[in-house]
Amino acid sequence: MSLVQTENLWRRFGRHEALRGLTLSVPEGGVYALIGANGAGKTTALRVLVNLLEPTRGAASVLGTDSRRLSPGILAQIGYVSENQALPARLRVGEYFDYLRRLYRRWDPALEGSLRERLQLPQRQRIGALSHGVRIKVALAAALAYRPRLLILDEPFAGLDMLVREEFMEGLLQQAGDLTILITSHELPEIESVTTHVGFIHLGRMLFEEPMSELGARMREVRITLAQPASMGAPWPREWLDVRAFGNLLTFVDTRYSEEHLGERIRSLVGPARQIDVAPMSLRSVFTTIARAARDGALP
Ligand code: ATP
Repeated sequence: MSLVQTENLWRRFGRHEALRGLTLSVPEGGVYALIGANGAGKTTALRVLVNLLEPTRGAASVLGTDSRRLSPGILAQIGYVSENQALPARLRVGEYFDYLRRLYRRWDPALEGSLRERLQLPQRQRIGALSHGVRIKVALAAALAYRPRLLILDEPFAGLDMLVREEFMEGLLQQAGDLTILITSHELPEIESVTTHVGFIHLGRMLFEEPMSELGARMREVRITLAQPASMGAPWPREWLDVRAFGNLLTFVDTRYSEEHLGERIRSLVGPARQIDVAPMSLRSVFTTIARAARDGALP
């Protein structure tokens, strides 16, 4: 079952179409990373989901409800943490949590206590006087302690130091389980180990969306030592990206890797190979390869 679903979602700002028919589906229990270049439409998509923005066309459904009609009861099951989170600046941290505790029926005081301790939140400081990182930690603890079914995180790591990032991830993992997470981040190494699904957004559209395991299985960095120099003019298969030839060496990214198929392709295109090295790719390398190809119009 999908907790979040968008169908052909459009959002315009003036003349600029930030979302151009975005289709996205976040499975229950998953950690879905929405990735894409600056300006691709990630923040816009998340803001539509929590009804901070209305779609120009198309629709989004969140926890089975149209995003434009999220009732207080449904909103109480969604946690939203963004880089520019609006928090009550004049309240002290402790006062803010006192307020939230009364607001949410599902508030879990024990979880609140352990998050406050783990994230070392200063109780007596006014929120307006907190540093950016501490403010984000307050927002995370506040969003987790009412045990939402869905947590939407928009660039939560931006501007956080390494220790705070780790604390943040620990805070998150402490509550993993029944939680579904939708996250946008440029800090791909930080999220790679917890990500179960990836959606790659480009110019307001979904380029691909798939389980991390499938993405990991089909993407390979390939390095071939040939018996003779490769000719750069060869018509390379569309699914090979970033093809480079230096003398006897041919390197590329295979976006549809299968061992058998690759061997055949190489034999028929460039003749016998002396050695073929194939390496799995990090999410970060997948991102840079796809983003470059998308920018250069080289995607299959
Ligand atoms: P980044 O990785 O840089 O945060 P993003 O993928 O989150 O980018 P968005 O913030 O969704 O991108 O922006 C998508 C496009 O919509 C951009 O071109 C941006 O300038 C434009 N945009 C977003 N919000 C507004 C707004 N309120 N008014 C006008 N244009 C906007």
